[in-house]
Amino acid sequence: MAEKQKFQAIRGVRDLLPPETALWNRVEQTAHDVFATFGFGEIRLPIFEVTELFARSIGADTDVVSKEMYTFVAHSSKYQEELYSEIEEAYDDSIRSGDENLFLTPARKFIDGLEASLKGGEIGLTAGTEAALQSLTSTFRRYEQALEDPNLKGEPELEILRHELFFGCWDCPLGETITLRPEATASVCRAYIQHGMHSLPQPVKLYYLGPMFRRERPQKGRYRQFYQIGAEVLGGTDAPAIDAEVIEMVVTFFARLGLEGAKLDLNSIGCRECRPEYVKLLKAELSKPEIKDKLGADSQRRIETNPLRVLDSKLESEQPVIEKLPRIAEHLCPACAAHYASVKHNLVLRNVAYHENWRLVRGLDYYMRTTFEITAPGLGSQNAVCGGGRYDGLIEILGGLPTKGIGFAIGEDRLILSLQEAGKSPAPRRLDVYVAWMGEKTYDTAVRAARALRGAGFAVELPATAQKFGKALGHADKLGARYALILGEDEVASGQWTLKTLSDGSQSKFTEPQLLAHLKL
Ligand code: AMP
Repeated sequence: MAEKQKFQAIRGVRDLLPPETALWNRVEQTAHDVFATFGFGEIRLPIFEVTELFARSIGADTDVVSKEMYTFVAHSSKYQEELYSEIEEAYDDSIRSGDENLFLTPARKFIDGLEASLKGGEIGLTAGTEAALQSLTSTFRRYEQALEDPNLKGEPELEILRHELFFGCWDCPLGETITLRPEATASVCRAYIQHGMHSLPQPVKLYYLGPMFRRERPQKGRYRQFYQIGAEVLGGTDAPAIDAEVIEMVVTFFARLGLEGAKLDLNSIGCRECRPEYVKLLKAELSKPEIKDKLGADSQRRIETNPLRVLDSKLESEQPVIEKLPRIAEHLCPACAAHYASVKHNLVLRNVAYHENWRLVRGLDYYMRTTFEITAPGLGSQNAVCGGGRYDGLIEILGGLPTKGIGFAIGEDRLILSLQEAGKSPAPRRLDVYVAWMGEKTYDTAVRAARALRGAGFAVELPATAQKFGKALGHADKLGARYALILGEDEVASGQWTLKTLSDGSQSKFTEPQLLAHLKL
């Protein structure tokens, strides 16, 4: 007998259950409503994309790309799928018939197919794919020779070689490398390019919601499947009013949800002209022995690899030194300084409170000017609920025309945690009517009553099997129903149905139309 197995959701992923899902629905519906009032349309994106898209847009050196992505090989074409099923069938046939030769031609075809896919660029030529091709070719040659050797006829060696060749084919990366999306900005930009959205009226304003996947160390507010709600504004100008409006939209969304105590941090990280100058200055400052010696090992290493990241440090002992470092806002070029000043002015105009945080930076080259982060109470160390910024170089990196872009991503799991901590969960929907039907003869009427009540929008429980009076009322109580509709043979015969109010035990009689009218009051 098969061993009984107790399945559990894997580490870092979780089920969302009622009544909590009511809050998730409220949050998502509010996003749809608020974003629509700002003229955004929803984009639904694939959950997986070719790995290269994320490697290029997020950056191969980042933690997300280098350590946290869920990546696998998928067959990309029907032809490749057919090659797999052909060798599988041939392998089975050859075992069944005892004829080793049956496997030879399909294996040759598979190897030729691999070679052709590599040459045609369908599969990337990497060290892995090249090694797989070499190893398969050599196993094939050994198998071919062994088949011609009369001394080996019927020997187990032939079977072992055939097995090795089959699994060599089976394991070989004949397909595309696919990744479960760790974020969605890359996909939105890919879609903008793919669908020629640059020819639509600009800017194009899109929002999305859904699960993202990162192999991070799970903890409160950090999951391996988590949910983001995000938006992007692509194309047109980089007018500061756009940056301010995007931020205003997030703040309005949070306010509509009743999220209190959220804090908006704002910074400008300059552009391709002024940021490198600032980074040079920062690096020179950090390299001074009187400063470097006061930094920990991580920060010391970052002076060379990514000096901006030193500003992220939470290490207590480094704070006094970091506080005295040059600040990017004071080293912006005139155009970036004017842009930043105008973003702030536009925020004031929109009644959005912000805190300037000169230490809020991004590591990647295509990020520029406005960056922002929103933190919320009740979340412990993982308190960032939203990150966003301008990324004017990204679409070009992905093969599109130079295009302005700004966006944000909200961590929905954390937003929900914060709302729950603040007691903002909606009251769960109550059951309105429990149809307590007694005896088979009343069943038809019970079904009709349930249909009519549900049609009028009431939440109705219709027990699937007959129950005794006491048990039915007990069940209705446990489910928290407001009323029990009692349908006994008398009620069905007279057409006068009994409605019991469960909070006070009072009872009244109604005809069907009277009942609906009464409940609607
Ligand atoms: P990022 O895409 O890294 O800029 O993250 C944007 C927001 O997504 C963060 O501010 C978090 O609220 C949320 N987030 C990122 N990673 C996770 C995770 N592993 N679990 C839960 N929320 C996350």
